[in-house]
Amino acid sequence: MSDCLFCKIINKEIPADIQYESDSILIFKDIAPQAKIHYLAIPKKHYKDYLEFSQAEEFSGFFSEVAEFAKTLGEFRLVSNCGAKAGQSVFHIHFHILSGEQLGSFGR
Ligand code: 5GP
Ligand code: ZN
Repeated sequence: MSDCLFCKIINKEIPADIQYESDSILIFKDIAPQAKIHYLAIPKKHYKDYLEFSQAEEFSGFFSEVAEFAKTLGEFRLVSNCGAKAGQSVFHIHFHILSGEQLGSFGR
């Protein structure tokens, strides 16, 4: 998707601090970290949100790969906002990985 911010990061048109890359996924630092460690994990193929991505063939393989990466952090939170009301602002599916300190609760 040519007008998608995260597709531009995947295509290296916009710089990002990449932590992990494979043929199908990318993990990079969030530009406005909400914890000491705040990464975003995304599939390289464009899906707009969690529900669309949940139908993809690569769905479970993606989570296995993210788990391999995330376990190196010890304890972490993995979260995805699905829809604007839930806080989604970039409509290329992404999973926030938060770690590195004691996290608070979340909600409203
Ligand atoms: P959402 O609000 O959709 O759940 O999460 C989008 C995330 O993308 C936010 O945490 C925001 O800080 C991050 N973000 C927005 N623009 C950029 C950018 O240009 N680069 C990076 N690395 N993160 C971004
Ligand atoms: Zn995209």
